[in-house]
Amino acid sequence: MENLEPLNLAKIGTQGKGKSAFTGELSKAINKVVSKEIETREISMHTSKTVFDPSTITQCPRRLVYRHDSTESERIGSPYLEHMAKSKNITKWLDFLDKCAKIKVLDSYVLVADTVCNLTGWLDGVLEIELDNGYKHIVAIKTHEVVSNVFSCLFPPEGDSYVLKNDVIELNVSMWMAGLIKGILLYSDSKQGRYSISELDLNQTIIDRVEKKCSILNQYCLRGQLPSKPYLEISAECEACEFKTKCWAN
Ligand code: SF4
Repeated sequence: MENLEPLNLAKIGTQGKGKSAFTGELSKAINKVVSKEIETREISMHTSKTVFDPSTITQCPRRLVYRHDSTESERIGSPYLEHMAKSKNITKWLDFLDKCAKIKVLDSYVLVADTVCNLTGWLDGVLEIELDNGYKHIVAIKTHEVVSNVFSCLFPPEGDSYVLKNDVIELNVSMWMAGLIKGILLYSDSKQGRYSISELDLNQTIIDRVEKKCSILNQYCLRGQLPSKPYLEISAECEACEFKTKCWAN
């Protein structure tokens, strides 16, 4: 087998001899274009936040109404870049699954919506899985990369395995919007090279509760009112909430 040497940029004759080689006019111009583009895409992502999202529907009702009405970015970090990082993992899993025997990826990044609830979400993919008896199931899939200690808690080496409540609700609501009754949650812990797949059937009780919550939230949004705080004092959710300062100002 041919021996590969490490790539030595100086030998190849590029300018890449140090940090200064990449801070000229060209990188300034690219940075300007990229930052402008990200800003534009953030705006379009925030626009999509004017509807409720199955991935956050369990949150504080007041927070959801604040977010619905929010026009400026009150988030820390870039939702667009977070989305891109997540998409890479999803794409790799879908590519892998499509190459597995008896699994076909029928669709990927499927946008789903319910205009009555004012909900918009998306499925990572829709798969066709053929069982040993030849029967084929159409299932929705959501993938989640989790950190190692969360993975170890969800899937202890011995005993029961678990799925996160938020993920179950998100997948159920997205399945319902897509008209699918079966779904799978795929958890992966890339650092430790582990994964686990859990199967879910559509749960009508979850859907009924989400529909009711959305109906109440929509009434608040239409009247331009905020639900009262569901907490008597600053809670753990408030600590992580992007509207904490505004919400507890008086
Ligand atoms: S600060 Fe707390 S009560 Fe206020 S919107 Fe956020 S989560 Fe809800």
